[in-house]
Amino acid sequence: MSHFDLLVRGGVAVLPWTVAECDVGVRHGRIVALGALSDATADTVLDARHLHVLPGLIDPHVHFRDSGVPGTGDPEVETMATGTRGAVLGGITCVLDMPNTTPPLTDVAALAAKRAMVARDALCDVGLYVGATRDNISDLATLETAPDVCAIKVFAGSSTGGLLIDDDLTLERVMRAGSRRIAYHSEDEARLRQRRALFRVGEPYSRHAEWRDERCALLGTQRIVSLARLTRRPAHILHVSTAEEFKWLAAHRTIATVEVLVNHLTQASDAYDRDGPLAVMNPPIRDARHRDAAWAAVADGRVDTVGSDHAPHPIAAKQRPWPDCAAGLTGVQTLLPLMLDHVARGRLSLARMVDLMAAGPAQVYALSELGRLVVGARANLTLVDLRARRMIEADWLASPCGWSPFVGTRVTGWPAATVVGGRIAMRDGALGSQSVGTNS
Ligand SMILES: [Zn+2]
Repeated sequence: MSHFDLLVRGGVAVLPWTVAECDVGVRHGRIVALGALSDATADTVLDARHLHVLPGLIDPHVHFRDSGVPGTGDPEVETMATGTRGAVLGGITCVLDMPNTTPPLTDVAALAAKRAMVARDALCDVGLYVGATRDNISDLATLETAPDVCAIKVFAGSSTGGLLIDDDLTLERVMRAGSRRIAYHSEDEARLRQRRALFRVGEPYSRHAEWRDERCALLGTQRIVSLARLTRRPAHILHVSTAEEFKWLAAHRTIATVEVLVNHLTQASDAYDRDGPLAVMNPPIRDARHRDAAWAAVADGRVDTVGSDHAPHPIAAKQRPWPDCAAGLTGVQTLLPLMLDHVARGRLSLARMVDLMAAGPAQVYALSELGRLVVGARANLTLVDLRARRMIEADWLASPCGWSPFVGTRVTGWPAATVVGGRIAMRDGALGSQSVGTNS
């Protein structure tokens, strides 16, 4: 008779090849058995009756704002501890954290500081992006293969200081340094700057989408993909947001993978009337034509990953007049509830959602132990109740900044448990007692 550390019993599992009733046996942090395990015993049994058991879901795009360097950051906005708390409460088992902290993650020392913080504070697995700058190009090939690094991130637009790389020659030098897929914020910086002069401070928040227009997005993405082709360096285009980009990218699947944000699948221009500055993000929320195009791209397989672009700010910074208001939305905790609601409304299948939130990011970022519910994989699991009807409430949010444009939204489908490395990190909305540290 088999004995497991953890036995997930009685659920319907989303396996790569089928969706079926299937127990999951876990030992030493790994999945070791799949199938009917009714005779088995375990230290801990997780009752999954009436639940679906998914491979641990991944949010590949978060900004937890925390460098790990003592004396930096703002605990009233977000920390590694609170960000990963939000993740596991929201059914996310792994996040990939962006490098534009203060100080930014652009060298070996900053990587060491952040890894130490993750090992100490994180409640889920955390992969780390390294930012490319004009000054660290010769180090990128080494940095991208360091433990816990998920990718190099390039801000070709929409950043400031050292992290902005907006000229072709430097972009090409970055692409020729190293070999892993690079993740890009691709909005065209020159056009953004040019168009800024067309608007005045205090105009309606909906101007955001006029300023950072479709052409900014398309020009930037075309330039990155052309350079990626030239250098044969795989690219991942973050937060693709326009019908024109989706159309153009369809011919470039061999070199460029595609991320869509849940915001761009969920919101359209009316968000500015409803949420004002809380709708402001980059690239912007656009009109329904682009949202429809994003769903069409999800439906026919052109999209590889869905992320939240979780980017908390103090509410006072959000409420400044446009365009001085901070851009970015909290979202790691609401990503899965919103996606499950899209499943409930028939906009995509549960299997496609799992593909976008587990297998897809695992493939794009080469996270070989994650993304599929298979024997031998790291025991990361997300259990969901597809029929639960809930409202997203402010006091459920772990992020200290305390706001979300989705507070008050009613959804069908809710995370029931989160398992990270074989340990229960969340069950029925309550956190597990142990910190799980890094993916090692
Ligand atoms: Zn981002």
